[in-house]
Amino acid sequence: MSDRTELKELGEFGLIDKIKKAVTISNKTTITGIGDDCAILDSKGQQIVVTSDMLNEGVHFDLGYTPLKHLGYKAAVVNFSDVLAMNALPSQLLVSIGISNRFSLEAVDELYAGLLKACELYNVDLVGGDTTSSINGLTLSLTAIGFQDADKIVKRSTAGEGDLICVSGDLGGAYMGLQILEREKAVFKGSPDVQPDLDGFDYILERQLKPEARKDVIIELVKREILPSSMIDISDGLASELFHIATDSNVGCTIYADKLPIDPMTSTVAQDFKMPPETAALNGGEDYELLFTIKQADYEKVKGWREVTVIGHITDKAEGVNMVGSVGSIIKLNAQGWDAFLSK
Ligand code: ADP
Ligand code: MG
Repeated sequence: MSDRTELKELGEFGLIDKIKKAVTISNKTTITGIGDDCAILDSKGQQIVVTSDMLNEGVHFDLGYTPLKHLGYKAAVVNFSDVLAMNALPSQLLVSIGISNRFSLEAVDELYAGLLKACELYNVDLVGGDTTSSINGLTLSLTAIGFQDADKIVKRSTAGEGDLICVSGDLGGAYMGLQILEREKAVFKGSPDVQPDLDGFDYILERQLKPEARKDVIIELVKREILPSSMIDISDGLASELFHIATDSNVGCTIYADKLPIDPMTSTVAQDFKMPPETAALNGGEDYELLFTIKQADYEKVKGWREVTVIGHITDKAEGVNMVGSVGSIIKLNAQGWDAFLSK
């Protein structure tokens, strides 16, 4: 086993100092970061979008199969995804940790390696946070910040009848990746000498363990001169997010099952688990793709864009939220997907 340094050898301030030294600031909107009572940011006349996410060990992540570096990376990325879903680029991040003496300094280093890797790739400055001790598990609370011109911020509540519904990337992969991890964990518990068989599932495991937020899509929308009429990121599953847009915009919508973008590996694994692939796409969470609507007049601008699929359109509220099945049947959707207060 490698050396283990206890956190108490370093102390809270030693740890914060170490984190501070590992951080580089690269955004013009960051005036000062870690070190004072508050960070100082300059919005340069733009509006500020702010989002927070809290993750608890045993509830939101399982360190049995989640390396700490991946956890840090994913925790940052899911916050960036929320900022991007407002059509803003994330520029600052605050990270608060509640940590027990079960964790060594080396473990904290791994967590921050992941957090800082994500910050580097998405050009986000880590500007502060808080450090406390916890009795047992690990708690992470992240806050991400972005700036955008008031007239370019895109909300979920502004979709209009006739708008086209678009989705980036493909759906259901993260959920099927989780099913593989849970299956192998169960096998491993039953007989610890059996090695987990994760071969051949790289894509969906990566979707689960190391998701990416679609900054590329937000940048490409600008290049294509498209301002979505509404947008949300897909964290709880497509069905749930469609309901958010429909309810908040006071509209209905119709999507088409055969238009859903699903990777072949997701389909194969879903079938192995006796689940229709559409169910994985509709109800499985954590894909962190973007769901957005555009005016019909903008259709030509998304045509031929490989990363974006038009899956349906916005209707009158009275029609509700529907999916046209592959044989033409109309299925009323409900907002299943993952709910924080329902057990898995
Ligand atoms: P205070 O007691 O005023 O809250 P702290 O000692 O908690 O100050 O924090 C000192 C500085 O270090 C602040 O700038 C704070 O944002 C930052 N900080 C504390 N913990 C973390 C952390 N885990 N990650 C990043 N920055 C942190
Ligand atoms: Mg503090």
